[in-house]
Amino acid sequence: MSQILIIYTGGTIGMMSDPVTKVLKPINFEQIMDNVPELEKLNCRIKVHSFDEIIDSSNMNPEIWSELAGLIQSNYHDNDGFVILHGSDTMAYTASALSFMLENLGKPIIFTGSQLPISAIRTDAKENLMTAIEIAKAKKNDRARVPEVCIYFDYKLFRGNRAFKYNSSKFEAFRSPNYPILAESGVHLRFSVNDIRHPEDESALIIHNNLVSDVGVLKLYPGISPKVVENILSADVRGIVMETFGAGNTTTDAWFIDLLKNAIDSGKVILDISQCKVGTVELGRYETSKHLKDIGVANGYDMTFEAAVTKMMYLLGQSDNPAQVREWLETDLRGELTVS
Ligand code: ASP
Repeated sequence: MSQILIIYTGGTIGMMSDPVTKVLKPINFEQIMDNVPELEKLNCRIKVHSFDEIIDSSNMNPEIWSELAGLIQSNYHDNDGFVILHGSDTMAYTASALSFMLENLGKPIIFTGSQLPISAIRTDAKENLMTAIEIAKAKKNDRARVPEVCIYFDYKLFRGNRAFKYNSSKFEAFRSPNYPILAESGVHLRFSVNDIRHPEDESALIIHNNLVSDVGVLKLYPGISPKVVENILSADVRGIVMETFGAGNTTTDAWFIDLLKNAIDSGKVILDISQCKVGTVELGRYETSKHLKDIGVANGYDMTFEAAVTKMMYLLGQSDNPAQVREWLETDLRGELTVS
């Protein structure tokens, strides 16, 4: 019989409305279990680890990501898969971060949560939870069907580092426009076998805990001034994610290019991702991105913002050499980008 470890961090799934103030507040895992008697009927053993402090995911941070990675490592051999209950607001950041922190992952790590608390009559939590467990225990020829860090929400399974929260009020909270879904749940649970990654060496899970969370973000808009750009680029950080226009384009104004060049020359790594949610950065396609390539801006291709920021945190912890970090940023490490 399979064994699944459920890790409960918090989120709406485990909240209850305060009868007086009507504010949503976290409840403990036993209260969650009481709402899903169907869990008993799943053909697997379920263990639960509840975090001491149950949080709204807006309070998620890299220390908790390390704790999660450590928990997965210490329970890796005894469990066939993991389901992590997490608020949807920052779920894509945690899933992206863990995808980088867990190298050679051979077992499913399925994040889920819900838009309505599990105790609500119209809740989406039960389906999300039950199917997340089904996916976490799914095997074929004794191998996990999806040995990836994923998000399961509203009948769809996404690669974690390809998804983002795009809707705060619909049950369909996540999208992954630049990569196909990995499975869909309907009458049958259908896996997109050709889109699922399997590690080259399943025997050796490697945990990387040393994230550098000081990452700058430069989001461009027409009219952004030298003062604003200079302030962001001169911050005491080694890496900056720059959100550009369209296929990775920026203004060609000399002051702007000079500021970027000075930052790069001083050892900072600047990663170009697009403000568009669909499509990819193509450095050099337009005149408005050719100069970026020339001065050494890294190409983020079709990465989500969530993947870009957490990948930068991960890589800054892996190397002090900006050229090396830049090379890895442009490389597909965990299925997070498509080199075009
Ligand atoms: N604010 C909640 C959280 O992210 C929303 C949710 O769970 O969906 O913790």
